[in-house]
Amino acid sequence: MVKRIVIAGIFTECNDFTSTFISTADFARAELLRGNEILDRIDGIVGGTLHELAKDKEFEPVPLLFASASPGGALTDDCFYELHDEIIERLKDAGSVDGVLLLMHGAAVAQSIDDVEGYLLNSVREIVGDELPIMVTLDLHAHVTDQMVQLSTALFGWETYPHMDSHRTGERAANLMMRTLHGEVKPVQVMAKVPVLTSAINASTERPGPFFDLMKKAKDLEHSGKVLCSSVFLVHPYIDRPEMGSGALIITDNQPEIAALYAEALAQEYWDRRLEFEPEVWTPDAAVAAAGADCETSVVLTEAADCCGGGAAGDCVATLHALLKSDNEFTALYPVVSPLAALAAHNAGVGQWIRISVGAEIDTKWGPPVDIHAEVVALGSGNFTYIGGIWNGAEGQMGQSAVLRVRGIDILVTTHPTYEWHDEQYRAMGLDPKNYKIIVAKNPMNYFMTYLPITGKFFIIDSPGPTPATCTSLTYKKMPRPFFPFDLDIEGLRPKIFGAINNR
Ligand SMILES: [Zn+2]
Repeated sequence: MVKRIVIAGIFTECNDFTSTFISTADFARAELLRGNEILDRIDGIVGGTLHELAKDKEFEPVPLLFASASPGGALTDDCFYELHDEIIERLKDAGSVDGVLLLMHGAAVAQSIDDVEGYLLNSVREIVGDELPIMVTLDLHAHVTDQMVQLSTALFGWETYPHMDSHRTGERAANLMMRTLHGEVKPVQVMAKVPVLTSAINASTERPGPFFDLMKKAKDLEHSGKVLCSSVFLVHPYIDRPEMGSGALIITDNQPEIAALYAEALAQEYWDRRLEFEPEVWTPDAAVAAAGADCETSVVLTEAADCCGGGAAGDCVATLHALLKSDNEFTALYPVVSPLAALAAHNAGVGQWIRISVGAEIDTKWGPPVDIHAEVVALGSGNFTYIGGIWNGAEGQMGQSAVLRVRGIDILVTTHPTYEWHDEQYRAMGLDPKNYKIIVAKNPMNYFMTYLPITGKFFIIDSPGPTPATCTSLTYKKMPRPFFPFDLDIEGLRPKIFGAINNR
């Protein structure tokens, strides 16, 4: 008998500190696949899942709906319910199924829903019952809630940051689903969590650091066969919801106590090494001065607080202010989302000079725009193709875009925020970063992989924005104290453990 495996998901990362919201139009512009359209995907999380299922003729995918979008604010309730309801309706219409694979991020929220993934899981459980296996893939920046752990059979986090293994994570989840349905294993999972909220700057899995060590220990358990599966989570710290924390989730073959033991040890180590996650930061002025004084190589300034990949609108301009007021002579490359400036540049045309305000157009609470007199040096549609990462092969859309030049500073002005993987956005507009003395990136991690071939000089900027280098710049309302880094120590702290054992 063929076993029918549901594939569905709502995949995005949200930000509670930005002024924007994610709507259905944002999913439609990025990726909104219905029914058999899902079966055409060969890349990414969907492609990996399908690839693994196809290895065993006993399994058949049942594709419902898969929606992914560039990060942004919370989903509007309308958007969430539209996607949720369609998945549930399609599930009801799908007839008898044997397993469910949900391909999610884990840090999605809606205006009035703290836990989008948990909510969808609950709705799916109500239809398929308590016994059917439901497995969920997650970004390793997921906010793993009690509800998600209790309602799912198995959760899988990415293993790499920068994220390079979405395809493989799909394969891992599908593989455990097939082994479970063949009766080879009975997965049980336990999560252990500590109240640590940090940026992802010191959390690479590809170079030495605390997260590298934690991930390696977790994966050693898995690869040695002591556990079925392991995940380490650094919670996306830019949502503001209750019970947030980082830690580890362990899945064993029906050995909950073993899972709890390893998960707790990893979470405790996470807590013990919390100080190592806080980065060294520079003010924009100090970083520009240091970069401008260096004549040897290119220098990368990463304005981490304005990361579109973390849900920012991409229109904070603190570092652009610093570049423009510097007396040093240098060339520089700077990205900003500024739809009205992009429109004005298109109306003016290449070779024309325009006086225009740039930035602080969408999310206005992080500082003033910059007023510039600039030459329009390039115009474009803003379309590009991702090369690598979780959206490998997918189209990115910056919308109407322009390059504005002030002295040696080239400002890439776009209409829509887009996730930064490599330097696709700059290259789509004919800009080659290696031709510039100062390159500004707006992400906490991928800049390193992207620009290491041309420079070893990197400065992390501490500036206003909804995705700052350290969370102490934000005001949390729903996430209660105490938590690190606001509270450097918490007396008597033990990891919170939940899942296949009773909460403790
Ligand atoms: Zn992530």
